[in-house]
Amino acid sequence: MTSTFQTGNPDGFDYTRSGNPNFRMLDACVAALEGGQYATCFASGVSAITAVVSSLKSGDLILAEENLYGSTYRMFERVFAKFGLKVAYVDLSRGENWGEIERQRPLLVWLESPTNPLLKILDIAGISAVAAQAGAAVLVDNTFASPFLQRPLELGATLSLSSTTKYINGHSDCLGGAVATNDPAWQERMVFAQKALGLQPSPFDAWLTTRGQRTLALRMERHSANALELAGWLEKHPRVRSVRYPFLPSHPQHELARRQMGAGSGIFIAELAGTLEQALEFCRSLQLFTLAESLGGVESLVCHPASMTHASVPPEVRRGVGIGDGLLRFSAGIEDGADLRADLETALARIYA
Ligand SMILES: *Cc1c(COP(=O)(O)O)cnc(C)c1O
Repeated sequence: MTSTFQTGNPDGFDYTRSGNPNFRMLDACVAALEGGQYATCFASGVSAITAVVSSLKSGDLILAEENLYGSTYRMFERVFAKFGLKVAYVDLSRGENWGEIERQRPLLVWLESPTNPLLKILDIAGISAVAAQAGAAVLVDNTFASPFLQRPLELGATLSLSSTTKYINGHSDCLGGAVATNDPAWQERMVFAQKALGLQPSPFDAWLTTRGQRTLALRMERHSANALELAGWLEKHPRVRSVRYPFLPSHPQHELARRQMGAGSGIFIAELAGTLEQALEFCRSLQLFTLAESLGGVESLVCHPASMTHASVPPEVRRGVGIGDGLLRFSAGIEDGADLRADLETALARIYA
């Protein structure tokens, strides 16, 4: 924990905005996890996104998947649009739309897989191959899968971005972000952005994240096993209209998910039959799933997008994109799976008594 370093120190540190031993440790861990040469850590996932977007200039085009993390969309539209950045949105889960990459010639293709909250799966290798032909870089927001389950750089992406706040740290005790790459020019831009825009994390948060990632493999195995079991069980429940989880055969891109991910991760969504009020009552009845935003921590969370993350979106628009009043997003923690299932069972029995 220091803001500055004695000039001439053998490790070449000068001031913590542009480097700190704790950042170096975390950078090396994230690069190794992602199977990449380089990584740069930031104060949050949003800081990491800022670093990438700030390296573009007025008139540059990003071609983005249409189902994006809300803060990414907000940054594109409410911050960088003012500076002349152009962003076009397409449904990149449909192969017939990949021709837009060739046609629009973006500088950067922006993907997320699985997407938030609908858990769409995008074909990272397929899209990266088309983008390479068109001379476009590809960024994958890898937050929902984590590098333990999915390594975008190995599938041909240029940049793999994580909100380390979620799975990589995994303990819900600090925010952080990271960008991994094999491209020295992009790496130089990330290091520059960290320093020039003041996007660096606190040394202590970098240390916490380095400690958190040591158990990433064990946690991801349990998160995935719990989510698979709970999603499979909920799918058969008479009061549950639909369930979506990448490793259930009912997921529309199940085969692709199995090809590019090692397991399904801890997030699943379920639509309850009933009203918005019943969905909220269900959430409030849960004992082990806390009603909260965020995901990827050791404790189970539940989120009601219609009243929380997507409350500002008009109801018709929300329903149009598949976010109904009864839709719930679950982040399965690492608690005992039978306990979690009993919790869901009790809450369902209560609202449908
Ligand atoms: C949470 C999240 C972010 C933003 O990360 P913060 O650490 O909250 O700034 C970006 N992308 C995805 C997919 C996320 O879930």
